[in-house]
Amino acid sequence: MTPIDLLINARWIIPVVPENRILKDCAIAIHQGEILAVLPQEEAAKRYSATRVDYLHEHVLTPGLINAHGHAAMTLLRGYADDQPLNDWLNNHIWPAEKQWVDEQFVRDGTELAIAEMIKSGTTCFADMYFFPEQTAQAALDAHIRSHIYFTIFDFPCAWGSGPEDYFTKGLALHDTFRDNDLINIGFGPHAPYTVGDETLKKVAVLAQEMDTPIHIHLHETAQEVEDSIQQYGMRPIQRLMDLGLLSPLTQCVHMTQINDLDIAILQQSGAHVIHCPESNLKLASGFCPVETLLNAGINVALGTDGAASNNDLDLFSELKTAALLAKAVSGNAAALEAHTALRMATLNGAKALGIDHLVGSLETGKQADIIAIHLGDLDLQPLYNIASQLIYTHVGHRVSHAWVKGKCLMQNRELLTINERELKSKVRSWQEKIQN
Ligand SMILES: [Zn+2]
Repeated sequence: MTPIDLLINARWIIPVVPENRILKDCAIAIHQGEILAVLPQEEAAKRYSATRVDYLHEHVLTPGLINAHGHAAMTLLRGYADDQPLNDWLNNHIWPAEKQWVDEQFVRDGTELAIAEMIKSGTTCFADMYFFPEQTAQAALDAHIRSHIYFTIFDFPCAWGSGPEDYFTKGLALHDTFRDNDLINIGFGPHAPYTVGDETLKKVAVLAQEMDTPIHIHLHETAQEVEDSIQQYGMRPIQRLMDLGLLSPLTQCVHMTQINDLDIAILQQSGAHVIHCPESNLKLASGFCPVETLLNAGINVALGTDGAASNNDLDLFSELKTAALLAKAVSGNAAALEAHTALRMATLNGAKALGIDHLVGSLETGKQADIIAIHLGDLDLQPLYNIASQLIYTHVGHRVSHAWVKGKCLMQNRELLTINERELKSKVRSWQEKIQN
């Protein structure tokens, strides 16, 4: 018998690789944070003696979900300014509120709130773009969740710094701090083509290639953005980024709701990834990302919630349902984005977009043990003909019972183990009182 740290027995496992497979009565053997094997429970019992054994009789295990775009700390502005068009929402509500309230403590507390919500709905890795990324990283470190933190770059000052030079200095220092941390990655977050000029974008492109570090940017979010770029630069934003050398397999293009054939050719040619945020696009009436067309063109599409101020939750299972339904409506094809493909979008595709698909995104031997368990025992989920469908088309975010990151348990039977929920609630309440007055 081989001694190991953890053996999780579950009624079902969807490993994502191999594709479209649902395993029954199998187990996952984990040692030192790594998956040793996915195998039948009887065989596992003979082969391994585990320090801890979990039996999840009414549960399905899947890879932990990857929320590939968000602004975690904005949970503190959840519901603060709803039902506004994007420009009005940003210029007259969100940016003034951020100017008044965002500081280090805001980011720390808001990120902790976001992480708690994400773990409780099945996310084990999140990508983030916001001010004071040092605080985002510290909150992620404390909670032991995997994160990709893209430090914000604008051409103008913000609460975090005085301008591009200052952002580069602080961001690169943060990158150095976490160079050897395998749960926290720091990358470049130029906010959008309309807030960052050519010189700064060129610098991002050069540094990213030199350092082999990802770039995360809002792109083609609205029709207005595309029109303005044609007016100002004589070309569509994605063409401008291509000309500046910013597009490569290291680049994550967030939103992409306005896409023509040339844009698709640029995405194909560059190997850049698309991060689809359907609920934010719907709420801000930004348009529709043609997910099915992009997937058929061989472009990698991952999924994100965006910030809680434009969603208003960080439940990636609920985002998956919206994405699946919307893909059918937009393509006019009810077979578009079927359940397994949708789940892959929130797991393996997310890992690919972030450049960590060799580590996570599927439940395979040799990968790190980022896993969630979902309880499927409740009446409203019966009967269970197709587990994958049930995960996508019913509401299962609040039924995620367990979460592990690199083999460490972050939630057990819905109880968070790395975050004190009571203390967090009282911190959030005091922010609400301050911001409301
Ligand atoms: Zn965003």
